[in-house]
Amino acid sequence: MQPIPPADSNDGARGTGAASVGGAPVGPVDASVVPRFAGIATFARLPRLDEVGRADVAVAGVPFDSGVSYRPGARFGPAHVREASRLLRPYNPAQDVFPFGSQQVADAGDIIGNPFDIAAAVDEIEAGARELRTRADRLVVIGGDHTIALPLLRAVHAEHGPVAVLHFDAHLDTWDTYFGAPTTHGTPFRRASEEGLIDLTASMHVGIRGPLYAKSDLEDDERLGFAIVSSEFVEEHGVPAAIDRIRARIGDKPLYISIDIDVLDPSHAPGTGTPEAGGLTSRELLRMLRALADLRIVGADVVEVAPAYDHAQVTAVAASHVVYELLSAMAPR
Ligand code: MN
Ligand code: MN
Repeated sequence: MQPIPPADSNDGARGTGAASVGGAPVGPVDASVVPRFAGIATFARLPRLDEVGRADVAVAGVPFDSGVSYRPGARFGPAHVREASRLLRPYNPAQDVFPFGSQQVADAGDIIGNPFDIAAAVDEIEAGARELRTRADRLVVIGGDHTIALPLLRAVHAEHGPVAVLHFDAHLDTWDTYFGAPTTHGTPFRRASEEGLIDLTASMHVGIRGPLYAKSDLEDDERLGFAIVSSEFVEEHGVPAAIDRIRARIGDKPLYISIDIDVLDPSHAPGTGTPEAGGLTSRELLRMLRALADLRIVGADVVEVAPAYDHAQVTAVAASHVVYELLSAMAPR
């Protein structure tokens, strides 16, 4: 029997995939030493943040889903995406970058929010994100339901002021209340707009589709500071035209990217709480993310992966690649 290299050591079991020299970032576990299906799942088999002390980018889970309006289960999203991220490799040819080699990326574990008290959870998630930022320059968060975007944006705003929000979703998420509750997964961007967290001239939804409650939903949304590239626009005009619109809207503003996995068609992401027909393909979404690499990305989240409705890791594999493209877009060239 072969000895098992310790998964938590920074010895030869890890490699960056790029040139390994003194002081180079600690990369994922070396798949030629420990096969991808072995060991405890951190995101992409990266080191834990407490193993490396601090990081350029920390990947953190927020297993909170008490704000959902339909099918629950996104609280299990972070573990599911980590498990499906085992096959990611060090070099990203689509962006010509080693996302784990040119910057230190680490898995920070999970930020915990009270599952029985949404207001308390929102405060705890904001505090957790702020604390994490003392040990990592940028965060990429895996949800959890979309409620968590509000505390994450509060933490980002505390450092950067109002940011451009690029929001990929089937849904606007600018509704006012559900059953009188102001903080749910359908309301984070209305609250964020009201609180002055977002740049009203530079924010945008991508992938919007499906039935609304009323025509006024769209009027409210525009007033709250969002432009829209709909799923139909992408089909009609193509990904390059969508990218042009996105980049023209954001300009050089500090950018927060929030990705609800239900922006993808249910055929590409069945494992989510509020699926809508007629969405983007994973190929289209990944291509759009690759086009953002030179923008000023200050943070990101990928939310609403609910494994109970997933099949064969279809949704989680897509989400893990979405996180990988975000980390690649953040990597220094
Ligand atoms: Mn959605
Ligand atoms: Mn959403």
